[in-house]
Amino acid sequence: METIHITMPDGAIREVPLGTTAGEIAQQISPRLAKEALVARISPLGVHANASSSETAGAETSGDGSSGIESSGASSNGEGFLIDLRAPLDHDVRLSILTPKDPDAIQVLRHSAAHLLAAAVLELFPNVKLGIGPPIDNGFYYDFVRDEPFTPEDLERIEKKMRELAAQDIPNERKMMPKPEALELYRKWDQGFKCELVEEKAVESMVSFYTTGKFIDFCRGPHIPSTGRIRAFKLMSVAGAYWKGQEGNPQMQRIYGACFYTQQELDDYLHKLEEAKRRDHRRLGAELDLFSIQEEAGPGLIFWHPKGGLIRKLMEDWLRDELLRRGYDLVYTPHIMRLDLWKTSGHANYYRENMFGPIEVEKTDYQLKPMNCPGHILIYKSRLRSYRELPVRLAELGTVYRYERSGVLHGLLRVRGFTQDDAHIFCMPEQIETEIVDCMDFAFKVMKTFGFSQYVVEVSDWDPAHPENYTGLAEDWARSSAALQNTLKKLAVPFKRMVGEGAFYGPKIDVKLIDAIGRPWQLTTVQFDFNLPARFGLEYVGEDGNRHVPLMVHRALWGSVERFFGILIEHYAGAFPAWLAPVQAEVLPLSEKFSVYASNVLAELRAAGFRAHLDDRNEKLQAKIRDAQMQKIPYMLIVGGKEAEAGTVSVRHQSKGDLGPRPLAEFISDLRKQVDDKVI
Ligand SMILES: [Zn+2]
Ligand SMILES: [Zn+2]
Repeated sequence: METIHITMPDGAIREVPLGTTAGEIAQQISPRLAKEALVARISPLGVHANASSSETAGAETSGDGSSGIESSGASSNGEGFLIDLRAPLDHDVRLSILTPKDPDAIQVLRHSAAHLLAAAVLELFPNVKLGIGPPIDNGFYYDFVRDEPFTPEDLERIEKKMRELAAQDIPNERKMMPKPEALELYRKWDQGFKCELVEEKAVESMVSFYTTGKFIDFCRGPHIPSTGRIRAFKLMSVAGAYWKGQEGNPQMQRIYGACFYTQQELDDYLHKLEEAKRRDHRRLGAELDLFSIQEEAGPGLIFWHPKGGLIRKLMEDWLRDELLRRGYDLVYTPHIMRLDLWKTSGHANYYRENMFGPIEVEKTDYQLKPMNCPGHILIYKSRLRSYRELPVRLAELGTVYRYERSGVLHGLLRVRGFTQDDAHIFCMPEQIETEIVDCMDFAFKVMKTFGFSQYVVEVSDWDPAHPENYTGLAEDWARSSAALQNTLKKLAVPFKRMVGEGAFYGPKIDVKLIDAIGRPWQLTTVQFDFNLPARFGLEYVGEDGNRHVPLMVHRALWGSVERFFGILIEHYAGAFPAWLAPVQAEVLPLSEKFSVYASNVLAELRAAGFRAHLDDRNEKLQAKIRDAQMQKIPYMLIVGGKEAEAGTVSVRHQSKGDLGPRPLAEFISDLRKQVDDKVI
């Protein structure tokens, strides 16, 4: 009997008959491993794992290239190939049996869940036309063409059918078929999209298929052995999609599902989604009357309503004070400047796609600014600078306009007009580390002040193998990248190095903060620029009397006021801390009888400088409390006979509930302390 040698991850070599499967080897090792195993990985020794010619494997990929992870049995992540547990091994290989602990195995499970979805849909709607069905982050999808839209009730039925088919533990079996036969099969079945895929993707004469009961799919795999392992899943939504992701192609209905290995993981994921929905800044922005986007005015343009405007004022006041304390100068630059300026800066060339079109005035083209940098450069250049005045730190809450396709606009997070908390630092090489230290210190202060404690830091560098993709000399890159890294080391800030991720004009530090539900948000960026000082001929007179080129750093801490406000709304779920809340205290009289005392309380709060409001509507107390809760006002002060007599207020906190009666003066001094200390 012919045998082959299988090398296991621990180095052990097993001699097994030719054609033994990974599943059988798992069974030999332990029945428990066999039960846990989803798929196997063989190392890249040029060995073919499938009985039939492996290069012939057909292909099902994500197709639209946007959200899919290519599903494939023929090539994995560089560590080897993923293969079915029931694929016969036909050569000496290194083999790992993958359990759900392996992220690649989970993607295989999700891919099999996509097939299960298609199988269920075909049982219920035999006339649908099939598109593609890959795994994605957290789940899977499958595209279908059907005349009627899938309704939520349809999704329920489909999910039920999936559970039925899963319970039957139907095997996922691989079949090889000659290409003409495959085309004939799909033609007879009237599956035009699948015919197209076979035509395009099947380069060899044999084509790979997977069957799940009656369902058959042109697919490279691999798949988990049978449907019984797909337990923790849920159909989430239906969305429109174009065939192959191209506008103009036939419209399909994409059914999305979430899929995890355990119910607990699925529940956690669904809970996180619920939380994200509850915190959605677009919904809260309307409910709390903070901001709006008006179709009449155009997409991606933000209207700050009085309450949002007030929060913005508080944010900006804090920022400006901090800028001045740190030796920045505040400047303002025009929103529209000659297009020629943007040619000098290079934006008119490499940034054109993100710019609004030029505006002609008196036969000269003007440009709405997409960035503040050239404006600050013109201020720097307005006179000759001496080394004695460096560093020059010019800061501006600078409003910029960028063209974004309407499809990518998203609330406050992706807009067409926004205000950056922008600054440009011009300095000498020996000053750079001190400047970076202060930028980082400032960034950490921003996070602490606004209530964030977790973050990740990345240093993005050039790719020294491809200097042609970057401006600046190798020594510039080496020196400034070292400055960034040394600074972070000195500050004991852990960071990740991202080689080849730097901008073409210089290395940078990016800070991503982690919000209340664990989501990362790109925030602060500190970037060197070797390009603009050269383009604009910036210089300073050094101690030696000669002219030198200053180093230039762009830095933004919030990124933009709009975006940071959106993040804050979601982080706090709209319940801002007292120092930021548009209304800090709502006075709630028990009845009209106490309106005089209530008005006095209101007057005292306002005299003390607080943002207070009196709810004097003729409503039941419970209704008033509910409304104040809905508006996420930090403090509700309930006043009735007892309170009027004793000069107290009964304090109720938005999240802590009833705190009991307190003398008004005491409440006022407590609130003052909270606001002054910016207590979160
Ligand atoms: Zn597939
Ligand atoms: Zn800039």
